[in-house]
Amino acid sequence: MFDLNTIVRPNILALQPYSSARDEYSGKQGIFLDANENPFGELNRYPDPYQSELKDKIALVYSIAPENIFIGNGSDEAIDLCLRIFCEPGKDKALTFTPTYGMYKVSAAINNIELLEIPLNAEFQIDINSAIASLKDPAIKVLFICSPNNPSGNTIEEIETMIKNFKGIVIVDEAYADFTNSSLLEKLGMYPNLVILKTLSKAWGLAAVRLGMAFGSKAIIDLFNKVKPPYNISTLNYKAAIEKLGDIQGFEKAKFLLISERERMAEALTKLPQVVKVYPSQANFLLIEVRNANRIYDYLKQNNIIVRNRNQEIPNCIRITVGTPDENKKLLTILENST
Ligand code: PMP
Repeated sequence: MFDLNTIVRPNILALQPYSSARDEYSGKQGIFLDANENPFGELNRYPDPYQSELKDKIALVYSIAPENIFIGNGSDEAIDLCLRIFCEPGKDKALTFTPTYGMYKVSAAINNIELLEIPLNAEFQIDINSAIASLKDPAIKVLFICSPNNPSGNTIEEIETMIKNFKGIVIVDEAYADFTNSSLLEKLGMYPNLVILKTLSKAWGLAAVRLGMAFGSKAIIDLFNKVKPPYNISTLNYKAAIEKLGDIQGFEKAKFLLISERERMAEALTKLPQVVKVYPSQANFLLIEVRNANRIYDYLKQNNIIVRNRNQEIPNCIRITVGTPDENKKLLTILENST
């Protein structure tokens, strides 16, 4: 049986959640002399620490209860908080499957938490037997699975097997899942050890706003609320997020365009002589294997096109984000003209 209290760091468990002298006045008029704000101006007040209006909006868009939502300053904040809630620095460990998103490693290193890295197989899928065997170490408290995976672009197949076979917290990073029809969100209630991350930085097109979400049981979200800085989302970003989440039509339209551009690019890139393989992608980027990644990377850079050279982790692979139709056309023309 999964027991959340045995996974949480004891000092976090002992914390009281944030509360404010203003709590009973949410949305009501009053003379607020409790938070040392400046009474003059437009952006003079602290934002709502409970982020109620935005949570209601997210709840509506993703069909989930507000009590199951944490809002972070980008999902990068949620990644960091997960490690800080569940892993004792210098003692507990986290695990992930590589190649994957680099922030798990950076955040673990900052928090002095060892991150074990198990390689994905040639199809960038989890080798289930060896994965389950490696989870036996009781020091592992957190497991990161990125699906669709960055940088490979594919969705991961055996996530639920991993959730069922692990006594710690499984963080499924769905930063790119808005581009797919696959998400574990509707199964959140089935798994008390599941945390799902989403972001407004990708399909919603709001990377500048820095708004990420963690979805989990109420008990898990209560822990996030204990450790988050009270005012982690600025009022400007809060308003921008609410406005964007109201435009579902625009969201669907942009997504459709990006997905069709991705497919068009995948086909065109496959035909280029320098390209050995285009990996199938469910996200807004393509991982391609080329004859010489360093050479192509430098050549594109000389032509003012910046891509990600992943040669060090995946030999001769580069990751290309899907741009506007015009940007994609320029990329193809420049690649066609290379030798
Ligand atoms: N997860 C993955 C898999 C990502 O690729 C990224 C950003 N590249 C993030 C999380 C971070 O997203 P955010 O902008 O919400 O911090």
